[in-house]
Amino acid sequence: MCKPNLRDNNYEVNMKYRINQKNGDELSILGFGCMRLPTKAGIIDEKRAIKMIRDSIERGVSYFDTAYIYHAGQSESLLGKALQDGYRQCVKIATKLPPYMVKKLDNAKKIMLTQLEKLNTDYIDYYLLHMLTDKTMFDKMTELGVMEWLEEQKSKGAIKNIGFSFHGSKLDFELILKAYPWDFCQIQYNYLDENNQAGVSGLKLAHSLGIPVIVMEPLRGGKLVNNLPKEVIRTFKSVHPDWTPAEWGLRWIWNHEEVNVVLSGMSLEEQVNENIKIASDASFNSLSEDELKVFDEVKSIMNEKTKVPCTACGYCMPCPHGVNIPGCFSSYNDKFLLDDKLYWWKYAQTLGAFSAEPAFASKCVECGKCELHCPQNIEIRKELKAVAKTMEGIFFKPIVGAARKIMRI
Ligand code: SF4
Ligand code: SF4
Repeated sequence: MCKPNLRDNNYEVNMKYRINQKNGDELSILGFGCMRLPTKAGIIDEKRAIKMIRDSIERGVSYFDTAYIYHAGQSESLLGKALQDGYRQCVKIATKLPPYMVKKLDNAKKIMLTQLEKLNTDYIDYYLLHMLTDKTMFDKMTELGVMEWLEEQKSKGAIKNIGFSFHGSKLDFELILKAYPWDFCQIQYNYLDENNQAGVSGLKLAHSLGIPVIVMEPLRGGKLVNNLPKEVIRTFKSVHPDWTPAEWGLRWIWNHEEVNVVLSGMSLEEQVNENIKIASDASFNSLSEDELKVFDEVKSIMNEKTKVPCTACGYCMPCPHGVNIPGCFSSYNDKFLLDDKLYWWKYAQTLGAFSAEPAFASKCVECGKCELHCPQNIEIRKELKAVAKTMEGIFFKPIVGAARKIMRI
């Protein structure tokens, strides 16, 4: 265990680690996501955030995930400060290049230089193309020479591993995964998203290709803790009254041997404590049959509350007009299931609002081709109209349009 040199808290360290199959890195199964750090008056509460980060390192957390855009650019600087005084050598830093801000190679070069400065480090352990939603975004990075330049940085030691984070359809995940010899990838995965976005099939595919998988949104930004229907909480409690919804959610992910690290965006000291405690106890294939059955029950309760019975099988795809049909239905269902006030933002993000070709429901021209292939017999055209009406309200297009202009997309 790496010991930072300033403090000696003598924490008992029970963290579990999984070996990165590509490079032998020993990574804590719990990673610290630095996108929801504690704030005060709109800016990061520096003292608290630094203490949380350092405490977690001393208790065995060895993977820290940030991005150029988190906390409006403050997250990387804060992490850089927290990792002074001997903490840097104890951890792996992951940060991300936002492809939508890269119009020419020079943009990428400038961004990475700034990141190294903010992080106060000579190298980035895990560097990701941030939020790829379709293969076109990746192709653009290749055309601009970004991938070649990243490889140069890797050979010089400024980057240790090249990866990407993903929000999009299964098909696009597979295309991107196979288009480049990635060192790792990062996907959204939790018991509600078992078949959404990259899903379990994407997780298994990456693992079969020897590509380590970092999981983000294990609790859907807290929605699987704070916004669950009462019946779901009752079902969880009926088997383990002492397990919280967070514990159920995290244990479900760590039960998968294909997962290397689970990122949790922690804002409170209690979350750090709880997550570290769960991580010290969880391991793959550790859930019993009875415990796994609880998830079947929970999913069936959630399915009853689901508006469109889409299983995200993808048989209706690709839509010739670029609609991400399962992605539209998934965001739409979540709005009602999880009472998410920021549903429109999640919808925009999942449907590639900041890519060259967003895959919104409103792009449907009602040709009907997709309906011929849907095993659930969903009236896709009718449902997409409802999705567009609900999710793309009057302010949606002006806001997304303005954001795209600012980002020069
Ligand atoms: S009906 Fe709409 S969603 Fe379906 S294939 Fe045609 S344009 Fe695409
Ligand atoms: S074919 Fe039907 S169930 Fe499958 S993803 Fe498309 S809409 Fe959903």
